[in-house]
Amino acid sequence: MEGNRMRIKTILNRIHNLQSFVYGDVRLIERNGQPTLEINLRPRRGSQGICAGCGQKRPGYDRLSKRRFAFVPLWGIVVFFVYARRRVHCPTCGVKVEQLPWAEGNHRLTTTYAWFLADWARRLSWTEVADAFHSTWYHVFSSVKMAVQWGRERMDLEGVTAIGIDEMQWAPGHTYVTVVYQINEGCRRLLWVGPHRTAKTLLRFFRWLGKERTRQIGFVCSDMWKAYLKVVAKKAAHAVHILDRFHIMTHMSKAIDKVRAQEGKDLKAKGLEPVLKGSRWWFLKKPTNLTARQAQKLAEVLRYNLRTVRSYLLKEDFQSFWEYVSPYWARRFLDQWCTRTMRSRIEPMKKVAAMLRRHRELLLNWFRAKKEFSSGVVEGLNNKAKLAMKRAYGFRTFEALEVALYHTLGNLPQPSFAHRFS
Ligand SMILES: [Zn+2]
Repeated sequence: MEGNRMRIKTILNRIHNLQSFVYGDVRLIERNGQPTLEINLRPRRGSQGICAGCGQKRPGYDRLSKRRFAFVPLWGIVVFFVYARRRVHCPTCGVKVEQLPWAEGNHRLTTTYAWFLADWARRLSWTEVADAFHSTWYHVFSSVKMAVQWGRERMDLEGVTAIGIDEMQWAPGHTYVTVVYQINEGCRRLLWVGPHRTAKTLLRFFRWLGKERTRQIGFVCSDMWKAYLKVVAKKAAHAVHILDRFHIMTHMSKAIDKVRAQEGKDLKAKGLEPVLKGSRWWFLKKPTNLTARQAQKLAEVLRYNLRTVRSYLLKEDFQSFWEYVSPYWARRFLDQWCTRTMRSRIEPMKKVAAMLRRHRELLLNWFRAKKEFSSGVVEGLNNKAKLAMKRAYGFRTFEALEVALYHTLGNLPQPSFAHRFS
């Protein structure tokens, strides 16, 4: 089989050259019911091991037993490098295991394979990647984690002048995370994620960003969440703080949902016609997104003078707020809308109006910022984040979530070899 052995070595030397090591015997074996390729590695004759402590070439001390290092599968066949690591005698560090060019620290995955798995994890769920390449969920996770660490250490934070702050619920109950996005026209990405949605969480973001960079922030988009408002006012008072459209309209949709649920119950209790049955989405969707049948149903329901209907009309009416150009007229509209809603005697809607009144100045910043940072940006990133969350499904830990979010939304730099095998 000399010919075959030569060919695999030739390929490896071509795609994965290791200067101080040589590829030796290649064996095709059956391992755990899988065809497996084992490729022996040995140090090049006369070369010294590199001390993992100081990175210097040092004389040998002894050798450890053989270990397998998983490499990128070739033609669907599992591949391992097999190598007995040397220990070196270092005058500075003592007896140390040598540093290997194909694997970091104590890892059993080669660096090339880890980048390969991490790259696939952008396109498939972690479980799918593990299945496709005969790996494990944990190996995929640690590969993605490695890629994220590498990228986070090298990310460029120049030019971050607009940020969006959002919260996400990621586990049943009330477990939230705070996410901060960069929302500049040319660069939209996840900058930071932290557990919970408290003032402390957001303070940690600003500490991470640093004073100098915080001073360069001109625009902050956020929800009306009190903890966020407080911290932004304290840490980025110089920036124009915009309450964004997406969040405000979400508050309104939630209010309508409440009104509808309550009213549905009331009607049922009174033995009246279940006109609201199945109507939830008609009221929440944009009218243009309704099917013909839904639009017709909605039109029927709108004939009744229901609280749900009145709430819906208030919300639809509020849409024109965003169309104003001048902050002056926008303010007049807002005041009128709030007065009308306060008189509606619909509690959930009144709550929304009271909230808008309280934050009137921040709301009007939207017009002062010339609508430059549309909520569509935060909304879009928010949807992507939810998708990333689903893909990482497996371990419900904050660490796994954090790694998944940075990996898919962080727009992180990668080494040039990362795509070579994918
Ligand atoms: Zn050393």
